[in-house]
Amino acid sequence: MATIVVCGGGVVGLCAGLMLAEDGHEVTVLEPDAADPPGTSREAWDGWRRTGVAQFRQPHTLLPRFRQVVDRELPGLTERLADGGCVGVDYLESLPPSIEDRAPRPGDDRFRFVTGRRPVTEAVVAAAAEEHPRLSVRRGVRVAGLLRGPSSLPGVPHVAGVRTGTGEEVTADLVVDATGRRSPSADWLAELDARPGRAESSASGFVYYTRYFTGPEQPRRIGPQLAPVGSISLITLGGDNDTWSVTVFGPTRDAPLKALREAEVFDRVVAACPRQAHWLDGRPITGVLAMAGVLDRYRRLVVDGVPVVTGFVAVGDAWACTNPSAGRGISVGALHAQLLRAAVRTSLDDPGELARTFDEATEREVTPFYRGQLTADRARIAEMDALRAGREPPPPDPVRAALLAAAVHDADAYRALLETVTCLALPGDVLARPGMAERLAAHAGEPPPGTPGPDRRQLLDLLAG
Ligand SMILES: Cc1cc2nc3c(=O)[nH]c(=O)nc-3n(C[C@H](O)[C@H](O)[C@H](O)COP(=O)(O)OP(=O)(O)OC[C@H]3O[C@@H](n4cnc5c(N)ncnc54)[C@H](O)[C@@H]3O)c2cc1C
Repeated sequence: MATIVVCGGGVVGLCAGLMLAEDGHEVTVLEPDAADPPGTSREAWDGWRRTGVAQFRQPHTLLPRFRQVVDRELPGLTERLADGGCVGVDYLESLPPSIEDRAPRPGDDRFRFVTGRRPVTEAVVAAAAEEHPRLSVRRGVRVAGLLRGPSSLPGVPHVAGVRTGTGEEVTADLVVDATGRRSPSADWLAELDARPGRAESSASGFVYYTRYFTGPEQPRRIGPQLAPVGSISLITLGGDNDTWSVTVFGPTRDAPLKALREAEVFDRVVAACPRQAHWLDGRPITGVLAMAGVLDRYRRLVVDGVPVVTGFVAVGDAWACTNPSAGRGISVGALHAQLLRAAVRTSLDDPGELARTFDEATEREVTPFYRGQLTADRARIAEMDALRAGREPPPPDPVRAALLAAAVHDADAYRALLETVTCLALPGDVLARPGMAERLAAHAGEPPPGTPGPDRRQLLDLLAG
């Protein structure tokens, strides 16, 4: 069994740590934020200081893929989330009324999951981590650099542990970077004279405005969770303990949207969207929380088939992150942690092989979600820009448009779409299934469904008051 250090105690770092500890490894999670996880959901929301996670109070949902991964890898966690007040969601309950075939299918259970506000779900995962006999979470400890060990591949540095901000050296057989979007790993690796990994980075170009509400009943979902409404998009998410959130987002360069910071303006815009307006029917528990400056970033530590480093891997946002509108980061991160667990099981004793095995699994099973999100975001931002400028939007991707159109009427196409949206399956796999091409062809050329709401002129009026 190995000694493993996980840098970063966010949800993905903790899930990775738990999975590896379950396999008998001695795991230490090092987390700079000093505050212990609170004991109750209320305290988690009201008072948990997590400055290391800039998006801590931004809207978060878990997805069916998260449930699928943790039910397999960390049994009992879903139940603990439910015990913490997380809400159960079944996406098939909001099957569009236009679908006549409402018969259940085998496996429909895969669309059920539990979810809650980020501080609450993270507190539940953190409590499970605190209890694990082979997992130690040291809070208030920042990783400042890596320790060099004897190379196992010629010319490739090998990591033998970490150095903390106070100069303490913590040795390990494997170091897992789970430090999130702003991972300092490029600097750490440069200090070891590692070849640079392959890196991509650009601003996602979106700004988010969110308000949380509470009330006796969760609002009924009558539209998709993520709904494009002209030149803005809306996200509506159920939360834990009778809470929910409403988000409006758009391009950062759409200056009039800044007015959404005012609660009155925010509510006025949401009230003009018929499928989301009733999500305002509760007591607001926050003002409008804004967040911009979200980066798309990807870092690969194997270049041309050769690791740039061994004894060191990156998971979750420290590996790749995107604009979060599809709510996938934690689910994809949990899937990534699951792949790491599998790679450690087969290849722990061979550091070069471990790096390559994990990289191959990542590229095969996780990178397509990253690339797909970038493509979807570029298309949506181009559409928003065109609507803002009064131009005809660029034509949508024909395959995706056909899947969206078919999903309005066809029960199986709807399930296929849901699988891709919730990360249960990759779009390519779903589209290659027998019969799917015929289902899409039956609706080819039909316009994708729109969401009613203000056009650009009306939106500007609402923003100006
Ligand atoms: C506005 C917004 C909305 C989002 N909504 C959703 C959503 O609905 N659903 C979803 O699944 N995802 C969502 N995400 C993405 C989600 O927040 C991330 O994917 C998720 O937090 C990644 O988890 P992580 O553990 O990899 O990183 P993080 O949660 O960022 O955790 C990283 C941890 O590393 C620690 N750390 C940093 N530096 C060091 C260091 N030097 N040494 C040790 N530790 C360090 C930090 O303190 C932090 O605790 C959203 C993101 C944003 C920005």
